[in-house]
Amino acid sequence: MTRSIRTPIPIAAALALTLGACAETAEQAPGMDDATSEVADGVFWFNAGTHNAFFVDTDDGVVAFDPISNDAAAGLAASIQGAVPDKPLAAIVYSHSDADHATGAPVLQEAFGGGVPIIAQENALPIILERGDPDLPPPDLTFSDEMTLRFGGRAIELHYLGPSHTDNLLVAFLPEERVAFAVDFVSNDRVGYQSLPGWHFDDFYVALDRLMEIPFETMVFGHGDVGDRGTIERQLAYYADLRDAVQAALDEGLSEEEAMAQVRLDDYAHWGQYEAWFPMNVGAIYRWLAES
Ligand SMILES: [Zn+2]
Repeated sequence: MTRSIRTPIPIAAALALTLGACAETAEQAPGMDDATSEVADGVFWFNAGTHNAFFVDTDDGVVAFDPISNDAAAGLAASIQGAVPDKPLAAIVYSHSDADHATGAPVLQEAFGGGVPIIAQENALPIILERGDPDLPPPDLTFSDEMTLRFGGRAIELHYLGPSHTDNLLVAFLPEERVAFAVDFVSNDRVGYQSLPGWHFDDFYVALDRLMEIPFETMVFGHGDVGDRGTIERQLAYYADLRDAVQAALDEGLSEEEAMAQVRLDDYAHWGQYEAWFPMNVGAIYRWLAES
């Protein structure tokens, strides 16, 4: 296990911000809105249109994943305050650096009085600094491979599985509840996004296998409905079948355009975005295989 700490807030100090001596039992309040679901005791999924956030209640505050956007972050703050009233926000975690998931942290911080540390995988830091977007501030804390957050006796593991979709995507895992949160590199019975932008294919297939090594039973996604291990097994099968089908097209001498027009995977034809995005998935895999 390795970790790195970026100033100005060392991790021990940041965690100490929210660590209290008193361990109260969290009560389930009736204030949850329609966009919020509780997937395990004190573990919540928040939907904002096409995107989802994730938050975990602990006796020492709430850990929130992905503010998504300024508008969604306002909704997420209300969702947290409705589901677990009067709790402070302990930390914000970015699943990865992409703006459509990581924007809006200042709105969330403001809603909880500020001073909330942001955590991300270390490769996200230079990308976010370079972008210089005030609505997407850089992380205060980063880690390289794995880090475990402990708040109120609750463990939240952050796993970096290597490059997959971007070079800084993390997977959150709650070992007690066996709930995980994964964004963009896997989804629920849906093909990959368009031309798989930001995908590192050599490492992506390794990351899929490493994901299955995490003993989750429930999977919350950055897009789409909650799934389980079977959902991820189907994703592995899809990407393996996609690679094999495109390799067969290459072996037959098809051009990229011909492959995009002709390759079909009927087993997945009922999946979300198959008609719109599957040919684009084929093109992306074709270019990767043709170059490797
Ligand atoms: Zn992304």
